[in-house]
Amino acid sequence: MTYVIAEPCIGTKDTACVEVCPVDCIHPKKDSPEYATSTMLYIDPDSCIDCGACVPVCPVQAIFPQDELPDNWKNYTDLNAAHYKK
Ligand code: SF4
Repeated sequence: MTYVIAEPCIGTKDTACVEVCPVDCIHPKKDSPEYATSTMLYIDPDSCIDCGACVPVCPVQAIFPQDELPDNWKNYTDLNAAHYKK
């Protein structure tokens, strides 16, 4: 399983989650060139260890375990994964 970042992150990109992730699997980071142009942040499903540390620090409640994603945001599973398949 993986955690997934959904719609509330769009335009928010708070990055508190990036700071707490123990395996550094949330990108882009604030200091990367990609940060400015990215619409949201994404979790790498192959690296996420399902620790849940990112969930409570998100100010807009954008992060969910994949199997608890609200139905209207199910497509964000693929959107997060796609970011790492470029
Ligand atoms: Fe990182 Fe843990 Fe969140 Fe996965 S659940 S993105 S490993 S902080």
